[in-house]
Amino acid sequence: MRVATTITEIRACVNQARAAGRTVGFVPTMGALHVGHVSLIQAAAERCDFVVASIFVNPTQFGPGEDFEKYPRPIEKDLAICKENGVDAVFAPSRAEMYPRRNLTWVTVEKVSEPLCGRFRPGHFRGVATVCAKLFNIVGADLAFFGQKDAQQVAVIQRMVADLNMPLEIVVCPTVREPDGLAMSSRNQYLSPQERKEATVIYRSLQRSAELIREGETDAARITGQMCGILRLVPDLRIEYVSIVDAESLEDLGQIKGKVLVAVAGRLGSTRLIDNIVVDATTR
Ligand code: AMP
Repeated sequence: MRVATTITEIRACVNQARAAGRTVGFVPTMGALHVGHVSLIQAAAERCDFVVASIFVNPTQFGPGEDFEKYPRPIEKDLAICKENGVDAVFAPSRAEMYPRRNLTWVTVEKVSEPLCGRFRPGHFRGVATVCAKLFNIVGADLAFFGQKDAQQVAVIQRMVADLNMPLEIVVCPTVREPDGLAMSSRNQYLSPQERKEATVIYRSLQRSAELIREGETDAARITGQMCGILRLVPDLRIEYVSIVDAESLEDLGQIKGKVLVAVAGRLGSTRLIDNIVVDATTR
């Protein structure tokens, strides 16, 4: 496995694979890899001949007072996980390599970036879209793999790729969960043992929404009301939003129809947790 820290190195590495006729799959990450990330690497290895993973804690997607400094960076362990799972090349650039000067060019995906997490993390999706545009230009992959766990990120990136005619396909992989339902996240390690137990309430509320939709409930407010009832059983959880939106446009829905995204965000102590499910109301 090659480990490239410069743009020149990773480009040379990918060009060589391409010249040999191999298709290139790309998995962008911020490191602190867990089984969720591994599922993306495995999906990439299944669909592509050459797998590139990036490890970069992107400063431009963190707001003031967020966890940029304390974000875990276990680079040796991450490299071992990449190697074990068949990654061909890791791109692990420094901040100066990615942002050598004050950045003046930004990618803003309007509308899709605004609701849900966009309301609580101003500038976050501008940072995400910009770094992904840069990484896509650097790596030059055929396919890039993202997790459904970050549903709004997926919607933003898909729209960016479509609007800007970027020559790659975005593949979305299912959310990987702990046995008790908690969505895997690098941030779960911030949780105290008590908070870790309480965190399962988020998935329980999502499961209840799926049940209600399957039973024929079409009033979004009634569903989110029941979900809030479940979430409030954990008084420590400070709910940011409980929303039901169109799975593609992320527009608020009063009535359930088509493919809907049910999404929750909240804080337990200092840890921000998000989770979601997609429910197809047409198949109920
Ligand atoms: P991150 O390192 O948190 O930026 O995540 C890198 C990629 O892994 C993103 O596409 C995430 O959506 C994806 N990811 C994170 N957690 C999970 C999970 N539990 N299941 C599936 N994909 C995930």
